Amino acid sequence: MWSKVPRGPPDAIIGITEAFNNDKNPSRMNLGVGAYRDDDGKPYVLSSVKKAENIISSMNKEYAGIAGVEDFTRASVRLAYKDSVNLKNVAVVQSISGTGALRIGGEFLKRFYPHNKLVCLPTPTWGNHGAVFKDSGIDVTSYRYFDKNTNGLDLEGMLLDLKAFPERSVILLHACAHNPTGVDPSKSQWEEIANTIKARNHLVFFDMAYQGFASGDPNIDAFAVRYFAEQGIPILLAQSYAKNMGLYGERAGAFSVICESPDEAQSVLSQLKIIIRPMYSNPPIHGARIVSTILNSPEINQEWLGEVRLMADRITSMRAMLKKGLQEEKSLLNWDHITNQIGMFCYTGLNPMQVDRLTKEFHIYLTKDGRISMAGINSKNVKYLAKAIHEVTK
Ligand code: PMP
Repeated sequence: MWSKVPRGPPDAIIGITEAFNNDKNPSRMNLGVGAYRDDDGKPYVLSSVKKAENIISSMNKEYAGIAGVEDFTRASVRLAYKDSVNLKNVAVVQSISGTGALRIGGEFLKRFYPHNKLVCLPTPTWGNHGAVFKDSGIDVTSYRYFDKNTNGLDLEGMLLDLKAFPERSVILLHACAHNPTGVDPSKSQWEEIANTIKARNHLVFFDMAYQGFASGDPNIDAFAVRYFAEQGIPILLAQSYAKNMGLYGERAGAFSVICESPDEAQSVLSQLKIIIRPMYSNPPIHGARIVSTILNSPEINQEWLGEVRLMADRITSMRAMLKKGLQEEKSLLNWDHITNQIGMFCYTGLNPMQVDRLTKEFHIYLTKDGRISMAGINSKNVKYLAKAIHEVTK
């Protein structure tokens, strides 16, 4: 019956982890997957998460509503927007982490966006963005973002492209810690981007998968989202707690839409529920309860803020150590971008052949575009990595 089903390609990142798992070399490193590891290379469960789990352990397991756990969704929009927008005007639903939020957003755009149903993505962007929108029945196009010559932002190219799109296009922006490049606009660059977007009446779809992970402070990382909201730019927002609370497999996220009135928000919410009900009926409760306990209890919230900072700081210190290691190897190349970039990833600038050599000769696993997950680096393996990168780039 299914003999005509063609074999599909494995997912690029999951494939890397499989190859890593089959490699028994003691020096092997998995720098493919974007999941935080502590300095011993171990997955890390936050202490604030364990405390929250203790508190919620006595709760029953009844269904949440279609829109999810209400304390969670309310706290999520507050975490993102603080007081930059009237929260009564925001329609919000819980989602299956950040990916699910993007998918609900794609579906909502397909059904209701009255203008150009085309989502404009940065080049490059997270590998799943294109597929999520295409599966929602929405076409995608791209705008310039990363400048290979400087390993930084191509602001000029980006602004030109944003101006050239038809008015009221949908622009996807990484709110912070751009994946895969680790390159974020500065505050003044965000202001320029906002001006251009406003002048063209574009709709912004913010993907905020790393709030807190970029700078170590969720408020600082929400700058772009809050600034755009204050400018009155219409926003769709996807949020994820996978990284900033280490809740990867719990799939806790939120999708929200800024509306013009509470009444409009109620209508939008009613349609979001209509989208969700036949897809998965209602979302899982455990992760959402962990998040809402952390966000709504001042003491645990304080502890979480400390832990986010700790994770971000460890990554920043690995950036400095990797750059220092390359200098100690006497590399003649400029590695400033390692410390200039931000968030979980570093876009090294290594080409596919160099990546291949890293894997074959040094048992270091990463994506072909030269992106490395900084979270997979620790004080014990950073020197080995620097030596290997130097060997393949000299
Ligand atoms: N957007 C971006 C830019 C990401 O990097 C990720 C995670 N890799 C996601 C969304 C979604 O992650 P999740 O579904 O695990 O929240």
